[in-house]
Amino acid sequence: MLDAPKKKLVLLGATGSIGHSTLRVLRAHSDRLELIGVAALSNSHALAEICHEFKVPHAVLSDEAAYLTAKKADNFPSYTNLDGGSKALSALATLADADIVLVAVVGACGLIPTLAAIEAGKDIALANKELLVLGGAFVIAAARRSGARLLPTDSEHNAIFQCTEGHPQQHLDKLILTASGGQFRDWPIETLAQVTPAQATQHPNWSMGPKITVDSATMANKGLELIEAHWLFGLAPERLEVVIHPQSIVHSFAQFIDGSILAQLSPPSMTFAIQHCLLYPQRAPAVEPTLDFSQSLQLDFKAPDHSRYPCLALAYAAMQEGGCGPAIFNAANEVAVARFLAKDIGYLEIPQLIERTLNEISCRKASSLETLLQVDAEARLRARA
Ligand code: NAD
Ligand code: MG
Repeated sequence: MLDAPKKKLVLLGATGSIGHSTLRVLRAHSDRLELIGVAALSNSHALAEICHEFKVPHAVLSDEAAYLTAKKADNFPSYTNLDGGSKALSALATLADADIVLVAVVGACGLIPTLAAIEAGKDIALANKELLVLGGAFVIAAARRSGARLLPTDSEHNAIFQCTEGHPQQHLDKLILTASGGQFRDWPIETLAQVTPAQATQHPNWSMGPKITVDSATMANKGLELIEAHWLFGLAPERLEVVIHPQSIVHSFAQFIDGSILAQLSPPSMTFAIQHCLLYPQRAPAVEPTLDFSQSLQLDFKAPDHSRYPCLALAYAAMQEGGCGPAIFNAANEVAVARFLAKDIGYLEIPQLIERTLNEISCRKASSLETLLQVDAEARLRARA
């Protein structure tokens, strides 16, 4: 019998945290997966190293200046075709040879290349959540049209994907997303005003990029993930819940109408969800140690305290409002986190800035992608002011 052909992968966001975990999966499963395209924003040195190690034929640096500098420096292998700019990102995502595109860029900039890949009928492993929060309706509609498969790679959504697969939608009652509660879960609320960017970018369980680590602390991340779940699994907001689970072992729950609950468990590392998506529907041994029940294992669950996490309630309200609400929430949060990391605003001003931006922009009907992109731009402008 002939061996199955290798799946050809394009990895958008190759130099980040998800990118790093993906490379670990690729090293372990090089008999099944082949990396044919990589993209990053500006870290040309790290991207060139990846091209050398994995013999990657196509690479893109979205930042034009970084691309021009890299061209001059000439440190990419001769067999790598290096391109630059945001249009090149969409071209990479639609490479004729590609079977699957893993979207691991951070922020709403992932939307346009992802739509292009969907229209080209590629399978999409979706780690990026901001693009679904901005353009979920259009992403889901495009996937229906082209038949592209959306494979949820965010750990909670990957868990729900695994728990609900094969179950009819009408059997599903609700989805319960687990959240670690972030690094300040047990800090007295009155001390949160002093939180520094250095503290907010250290997570106790997960090693992740800076933006999502801050989002985990504020639980804006769980707010974005509720909206992500709404689009991926087609459930109304009132059937989506959040529970705090400090150990990050149970990655989410699916509750069925008869009261049975299914959960997916694995250690808190993204390699499990990434591998599940990249090899789907096949499975293979994990690339790192699995759960060990010979050691005692404690799993705790409790309801979130909303006074500690105002971003969660803001996201939930934006989801219920619909229209452009989620796009405004996401854009304002991206700007607020960038300003916090630049020490321009304090930690507690993140939810204030989001709320102010949501109040300032009248929530139009999201009738077209153009409208959404305009609202996204307007929200960023206001949140920067
Ligand atoms: P990160 O900051 O570590 O990495 C981001 C990557 O995207 C980098 O390679 C960067 O160069 C690239 N990038 C950014 N803007 C780009 C652009 N315009 N064009 C091309 N490349 C661009 O972020 P991360 O933690 O890896 O997160 C990536 C995405 O995955 C986010 O949407 C995040 O919410 C989601 N996610 C991350 C984790 C995690 O464990 N890190 C878990 C679940 C979901
Ligand atoms: Mg997640």
